[in-house]
Amino acid sequence: MFTPAAEELFAGEEEGGVEAEAAAASEEDAIARVLNDDDEAEGALGAAMDCYDTALRYSKERIQFGKPIAGFQLQQKKLAEMITEITKAQLLTYRLGQLKNEGKATTGQISMAKRNNVEIALKIAREARQMLGGMGITGDFSIMRHMMNLESVVTYEGTHDIHLLITGLDITGENAFV
Ligand SMILES: Cc1cc2nc3c(=O)[nH]c(=O)nc-3n(C[C@H](O)[C@H](O)[C@H](O)COP(=O)(O)OP(=O)(O)OC[C@H]3O[C@@H](n4cnc5c(N)ncnc54)[C@H](O)[C@@H]3O)c2cc1C
Repeated sequence: MFTPAAEELFAGEEEGGVEAEAAAASEEDAIARVLNDDDEAEGALGAAMDCYDTALRYSKERIQFGKPIAGFQLQQKKLAEMITEITKAQLLTYRLGQLKNEGKATTGQISMAKRNNVEIALKIAREARQMLGGMGITGDFSIMRHMMNLESVVTYEGTHDIHLLITGLDITGENAFV
């Protein structure tokens, strides 16, 4: 599932002919590979998307000061920043899937995607939780469940710090682990 913005970007890519046919032909394969082989990056992205969707729907229904809270600038800022980060993460994950299909994905690239997607998902979950006010901490919505899951994901299969060091090694050639 791509956001409208991401779909627009890929439509432009096809029209422009930059890797267009390969991108179009392998889109499903690319996503499937990420789902199978890179669960953390893709799973975190899915959690972020659900948190965003929950916050968006709630903000349209929740009336305060005589109008839906979606009509307040501060709430729109949160939603706009969420969808921007989700779109960027979708593009990163999509491209990683393409590289995996081609047998070219590197440890550094997978590491970057995992760290980025878990980080943005945690931030989005926290913002989404706040947008629901007191309801956000209840079990009536999925956000707190996602937050607890993500606090585990940020540690297992490589901690956030260690993935950062992998990227550091990848770009400098210098090992900062020890
Ligand atoms: C929910 C969950 C499920 C798990 N499932 C599994 C599993 O199925 N199989 C498995 O083998 N393990 C599993 N783990 C363990 C997981 O892989 C480790 O917790 C993780 O690798 C961190 O190791 P640690 O807890 O010993 O932390 P430590 O290695 O003690 O690290 C503590 C902190 O120091 C940082 N740190 C460590 N070394 C460096 C360094 N050189 N430079 C900078 N910072 C550093 C870390 O990033 C971390 O922030 C799971 C963990 C969780 C939370």
